[in-house]
Amino acid sequence: MSVPFVDLQSLHSEIKEELREVFDRVLSQSTFVLGPEVQKFEQEFAVYVGTAHCVAVNTGTAAIHLALAGLGIGSDDEVITVPHTFIATAEAITAVGARPVFVDIDPVSFTMDPALLEQAISPKTRAIIPVDLYGQVADMDAILKIANRHGIPVIEDACQAHGAEYKGRKAGSFGIAGCFSFYPGKNLGACGEGGAVTTDDADLAQRIRMWRDHGSLKRYEHIFPGLNMRMEGIQGGILSVKLKYLDRWNDQRREAAAFYDKALAAANVVTPTEMKYGRHVYHLYVIQSDNRDALRQQLTDAGIESGLHYPIPLHLQEAYRSLGYAEGAFPVTERVKDHILSLPIYPGIRAEAVQRVASELQESCHVG
Ligand SMILES: *Cc1c(COP(=O)(O)O)cnc(C)c1O
Repeated sequence: MSVPFVDLQSLHSEIKEELREVFDRVLSQSTFVLGPEVQKFEQEFAVYVGTAHCVAVNTGTAAIHLALAGLGIGSDDEVITVPHTFIATAEAITAVGARPVFVDIDPVSFTMDPALLEQAISPKTRAIIPVDLYGQVADMDAILKIANRHGIPVIEDACQAHGAEYKGRKAGSFGIAGCFSFYPGKNLGACGEGGAVTTDDADLAQRIRMWRDHGSLKRYEHIFPGLNMRMEGIQGGILSVKLKYLDRWNDQRREAAAFYDKALAAANVVTPTEMKYGRHVYHLYVIQSDNRDALRQQLTDAGIESGLHYPIPLHLQEAYRSLGYAEGAFPVTERVKDHILSLPIYPGIRAEAVQRVASELQESCHVG
């Protein structure tokens, strides 16, 4: 039995009729960009996250970009984030003309280490972007305490953490703004690209609404030169349908994770840690092994897909060579990248599939 890394076909086939209705409805309305479907989703998602406002955009990268732009951050500014994340977090910073400044991660949670944050703050720091990586919220209280003391806004990159919780509150509700991606493989995914910013700040929400639509609120009246980062009507409708299933799907991810935790307890790998403060939604199930490459090869040979998130830290990427970071600058990030392995996990993953992956790993550990 081969095991895929994700399975979007099965997920969508279960709700095919509901999705078809969205296509039919949008086709007959012919509101293909923004419109009532997107507005409805914005309201529902704000309620879900627990913020006053949600502004839907076309990607998660755009969500971070416009949160920064909406705060007036640009050239000559510094924005702090982590080097162990998808490049989009840093790209949004460079897209507004600001400079990414990296802070290493905590080796257990894989999220920003608050103990290293303060020393990275300079007079030019205009925002801090912790990432809720792999489905677990960063240590927000510790980060916000430092940020607030310096009067620096926090933008939460919650692109991998739809429905995750920190001390009973949902990802995307901390700091001045939360940023989400609805890329198809995310815990809540569109049938195409999508993103959103959640915030309690009405002025910021308004500025982001303008930024996403050519600096305007009223057609052909442009208050500033903005961009085109609007969500499509079809994606709004699709996301409304799928939002109803998000909690159930996250529960299924958690069940699979609990199964892996148990089955791998005796294997020679480190399983992911759900921090005491939160509820992990396992966008990815990331183990660590001293034998990572051999383990991955063995899974591949057995027809089991796996992933590396992320093999090259941002500070060592060619794209960010100009920032001038050297190898060794972020020891936890650099150690982690050689040991991590992402195992198959998705809503509806069958118990036999999880068992099959776990057995393969148990076996390899006896041999190796
Ligand atoms: C997916 C992702 C993004 C970017 O989202 P897109 O919708 O692909 O633009 C940003 N940050 C993180 C951590 C992500 O996982």
